[in-house]
Amino acid sequence: MMKSRWMVVFMITFGLTVTSVKWTEAEPTSELSDAEKALMDSVPEHALLKVLSVFDEDEEKVLRTDSLPVRDVNDPGIRRLAERLLSDSRRGAYSGIAAVQVGIPRRLMVVLRRDKPDAPYEVYFNPEILEASEPSVNRESCLSMRGYYGYVERPAVIRVRYLDLKGEEITETIRGHAARTFQHEVDHLDGIMFTDRITSEEMLRRRDR
Ligand SMILES: [Zn+2]
Repeated sequence: MMKSRWMVVFMITFGLTVTSVKWTEAEPTSELSDAEKALMDSVPEHALLKVLSVFDEDEEKVLRTDSLPVRDVNDPGIRRLAERLLSDSRRGAYSGIAAVQVGIPRRLMVVLRRDKPDAPYEVYFNPEILEASEPSVNRESCLSMRGYYGYVERPAVIRVRYLDLKGEEITETIRGHAARTFQHEVDHLDGIMFTDRITSEEMLRRRDR
């Protein structure tokens, strides 16, 4: 009698543990929600995904969020988002874009690698900046703040780590304009706009057009 009662207690405890593990595994922490997939579906492949603007209050809230890490670079939703951002970057001639800028806050971004032969666009998952050199000042602008540019101080050379499209962990050194763009996009993943790094209003100008 005692034995079987303990068995029941054991089974209940075990059952609950298994249930909670399963629930954790099924929780969509980095893969896309139905709403996020619908957002991509709502724009035809030949058109560019809408880029959020800081001048819209609701869109700015999204731009200010911390993006979630990508858990699986082979997740179909993540894959589709990466390919979409790559093709939009090519067609829109972007210097770089972060996934959060199209309203999907995941740690995924594209950078135009002007420092490499033929200047390819590359996708980076969960990028990190490991080391940085002395800063230099240069001009920056942003797809989420059209019509403005400013001068921002950033390290000219950075050592970075990320997962590539194959899911391989890569560590490399980036210099020049590509290093600046890389840092600008990593900032987006942390909800930071380039204007946050401008020390003086004098440094922000409206384009004359
Ligand atoms: Zn930007």
